[in-house]
Amino acid sequence: MTPTAPITQDVLTLPRKLPEGGPVNIVGLTRDQLRDALIAAGTPEKQAKMRLGQVWQWVYHWGVRDFAQMTNLAKDYRALLAQHFVIELPQVVTRQISEDGTRKYLVRIAGGHEVEVVYIPETDRGTLCISSQVGCTLTCSFCHTGTQKLVRNLTAGEIVGQVMLARDDLGEWPVQGAPKEEIRRISNIVLMGMGEPLYNFENVRDAMKVVMDNEGIALGRRRITLSTSGVVPEIARTATEIGCLLAVSFHATTDEVRDQLVPINKRWNIATLLEALKAYPGLSNSERITFEYVMLDGVNDTKEDAHRLVKLLEGIPAKVNLIPFNEWPGAPYKRSSGNRIHTFADIIHNAGYASPIRTPRGEDIMAACGQLKSATERARKSAREIAAEAGLARG
Ligand code: SAH
Ligand code: SF4
Repeated sequence: MTPTAPITQDVLTLPRKLPEGGPVNIVGLTRDQLRDALIAAGTPEKQAKMRLGQVWQWVYHWGVRDFAQMTNLAKDYRALLAQHFVIELPQVVTRQISEDGTRKYLVRIAGGHEVEVVYIPETDRGTLCISSQVGCTLTCSFCHTGTQKLVRNLTAGEIVGQVMLARDDLGEWPVQGAPKEEIRRISNIVLMGMGEPLYNFENVRDAMKVVMDNEGIALGRRRITLSTSGVVPEIARTATEIGCLLAVSFHATTDEVRDQLVPINKRWNIATLLEALKAYPGLSNSERITFEYVMLDGVNDTKEDAHRLVKLLEGIPAKVNLIPFNEWPGAPYKRSSGNRIHTFADIIHNAGYASPIRTPRGEDIMAACGQLKSATERARKSAREIAAEAGLARG
């Protein structure tokens, strides 16, 4: 069957108009890229390794943005850096704080595009939900982001920048001379914001390498979870090239229903997806795959669904994360009742799988799963302006 929904990564993708020449942004460069850039700027090759280490630590350990503050570098070297480089983050346009403490940042990136970043605090930890694309080319019928037409991949710098701007806002950079803080405000990162991370693999990978680097932000690979709708050919690379944990937006137990909810299923169906998951490198009981399952009233929430799901999971170290549907204006679905969700959870649990029900967070500020959609897109009239800015003539 020919799929009708856009399921390739470049349909509708806007080209990026990159600034030509000018200073290079350090944020998001891999170690190798930064080393090469330092040499190109005039750093003697035999000093490059040391300089790389120093600059890296200032930017990613201390959170410094001004070369003048890099006090272990000679003054003229700081001047050379300032001449060739910048340390720039995406711009925070608005910050909303929910009654439950959840923070949502609307962030503007090059070309005037906008994405959202959500911080979900818990007692002694916190999760940062970051975006990998502006919008999404996939069109999952229950997802607000999927209704957004405008799409472009974020650069590695724009992805790392989301983590850094949240650390700025939360005051999480270490202070020289002060004792090390015991609790990490951002203890976990989930790639569950806007976009399909596996359609922007290289940039997501490079960004996560920067975030995991021990000389900097130093977040362990098991503290990062990448969520995919099921881009089968890229799944194994998530383990071999990033090493983070995997979550899959499963959401249905028959191809018929999954075709409706997650149209990429028409390209890679449930059986194909499960095969790829069974083969996920490094899969074990301590590193299970999370199956995300959105609870939609009367669509995918029966006892039969729960039993079918258990059967499908056979042989895969898994846990099931049940997500009560978060409504958005004009959404074609309703959230399943609490009773239904609990009955469903019990069946999964009794079969031996953890089946937590995700508490919706930040609903009052539309920060919950699947509610993200940038203000740019809500104000339709500006879409044309953005396309024009990106160098794309659109009617
Ligand atoms: N594109 C990736 C990651 C972003 S979506 C993916 O689809 O996996 C993060 C999670 O939120 C996914 O499991 C997605 O299916 C879920 N989601 C989307 N819209 C939702 C909504 N309205 N209510 C609850 N969960 C939703
Ligand atoms: Fe894209 Fe994920 Fe939303 Fe589907 S659920 S439209 S893949 S962001």
